[in-house]
Amino acid sequence: MAAEVTGHKQKAAWLERVLPPVEQVQPGLWSIPVEIPIAPLRYVLVYVLELDDGIAIIDSGWNDTKSYETLVNGLAVGGYQLSDIKDVLITHVHPDHFGLARRVREETGARITLHRAEAATLMTHADDAKNWTAEGFSAMLSDGVPEDEAREFSPTGREFRSLVSDEPIDILIEDGHQLDLPGWNLEGIWTPGHTPGHMCFLDAERKVMFTGDHVLPRITPNISVHSNNPPDSLAKYIDSLTKVGDISLKVDNCEGLPGHEYRFAGIKERTVELVEHHEERLEEVRELVKSRPGITAYDLAAELTWSRSWESFGPQQRRSALGEAVAHVELLHQRGVVTMEGYGIRRWRIAEA
Ligand SMILES: [Zn+2]
Repeated sequence: MAAEVTGHKQKAAWLERVLPPVEQVQPGLWSIPVEIPIAPLRYVLVYVLELDDGIAIIDSGWNDTKSYETLVNGLAVGGYQLSDIKDVLITHVHPDHFGLARRVREETGARITLHRAEAATLMTHADDAKNWTAEGFSAMLSDGVPEDEAREFSPTGREFRSLVSDEPIDILIEDGHQLDLPGWNLEGIWTPGHTPGHMCFLDAERKVMFTGDHVLPRITPNISVHSNNPPDSLAKYIDSLTKVGDISLKVDNCEGLPGHEYRFAGIKERTVELVEHHEERLEEVRELVKSRPGITAYDLAAELTWSRSWESFGPQQRRSALGEAVAHVELLHQRGVVTMEGYGIRRWRIAEA
């Protein structure tokens, strides 16, 4: 059984490829679709939580004018202003979720809350952007990416410069943290995988779980391995799926409020489906390694089944496909199914029994 849609207007808008409406999900809780410049996703869902003396938001939108304006206009639908924001809770620091957080803080004095492991991945120095690019480039070469293509894949350091900031995060939290938000019983659930410090937030009394990008109703979140995401990211992701699935079962009719797409019921069922998807993917990778001993992650990525052909993929899509291939073959390695020869280029073989 798959996830069941509860955000019907959002689903209808998704199918029509338009922006869904700002909606009151329940008293004191709103969802605002904030436009983002990522074509297939189109919007991130920012949630507004009414407090005694203002509001908190979960995630923020992209750091550009369009995103900022849709956020401000969305707040107005609920009768709020930007200056009402006291707290900004962040599920993870990808630019569609974290992008506007610092600008909101600058304009309102709101506090930013992040998981400690997530904050550790933020770039605080100009060299971080340079190193990130250099590390990524050499990792791609060792995974068998041809050099000219690796250059194309590689983001330039300049693209990341705008993300560099040494301003500290206000509140760093851990798994199980009870957030200090009057009128809410919000608990942080650490769900590493998509990113090292991804957080979901649960209010058991209100029967809602904010799932960020950890659990989406239809899309399978990208699980990659790169300099910010350690080699065991997929193992962690699968554990985190089981974790939130089990927690959701303790709350009757718990509704999933995701970072994209639409609200849904059946969080447990959806997590089971996602785990199955990855187990099937692992089996596909194992078969490929078996039939092509010494294969690289790049060749794995090219030969895996995707919804569109590998040839039609642009650099960005190839890069995330490669990240997925690496994450899966690394997990097979951790499970003792495959071995790796690491002289210059990393090549994978089935482990001897
Ligand atoms: Zn996202």
